[in-house]
Amino acid sequence: MKNLTLTERLGLVSYRNQAKSNIKPHIQVDISICNSVCPHKCTTYVCPANCYKIDDEGQVFFQVEDCIECGTCMYACDQGAVSWNYPDPEEGRGVTWNFG
Ligand code: SF4
Repeated sequence: MKNLTLTERLGLVSYRNQAKSNIKPHIQVDISICNSVCPHKCTTYVCPANCYKIDDEGQVFFQVEDCIECGTCMYACDQGAVSWNYPDPEEGRGVTWNFG
């Protein structure tokens, strides 16, 4: 059996209700904190799914779509920028294993 790369493994993750833009994601990130008072921007290098990135102008941005709900950013952020709220299992969106 072929060993998969991390990117290939992440590509196998399935999501529920990702296309519904009216549903709140499980993570809310106050990017203004990342781009002002945060001295280390640790989420940009601890997230295994690369949901936090730094753009060409040095600004952190966040995209929830690839999140695998590992919880790392919740513990890594010590600036109060990341908040979690697991969605209603009937209507929420997120990785399927949280609903199975
Ligand atoms: Fe990235 Fe894990 Fe945070 Fe999702 S929970 S944004 S995968 S660090």
